[in-house]
Amino acid sequence: MSEGNEKTGICSKCGLPKELCVCETLAKEQQKIVIRTAKKRYGKLVTEISGIDTKQIDIKDLAKKLKQKFACGGSAKKDSIILQGEHKTEVKKELIKYGFTESSIEEK
Ligand SMILES: [Zn+2]
Repeated sequence: MSEGNEKTGICSKCGLPKELCVCETLAKEQQKIVIRTAKKRYGKLVTEISGIDTKQIDIKDLAKKLKQKFACGGSAKKDSIILQGEHKTEVKKELIKYGFTESSIEEK
C-alpha cells in the first residue's frame, strides 16, 4: 500500500473526486482542432485533423474510431490524424459525438 499522499480518486488538477471531475471534458472544450482537406500526389485527397492534445486525448483510439466509422485508411502521428479521402463534414460530426464542442473545431 502507498504512503497516503497518493491522489487516489481525486483529480490532481481540480481537486474534486474523479466522478465529479470535468477536466477531461474541459480539455476537449478548450482545444482548437483544425480539420482540413489536403491534396496528395496524384490528386488523392486526405482529411487532416490537427491540434489534438495528446495528453488528454487518446489519439490512437480516436484514429481507430474514425477509420472504422469511415472504413478508410489512416494514421495518427504526434498531434494529428490523417484519414484517406474527403471526410471533413463527417469528421466534425464524429468529433462532436466524441465530446469536442462545435466551437472548438475549425474547418479550413
Ligand atoms: Zn479534475
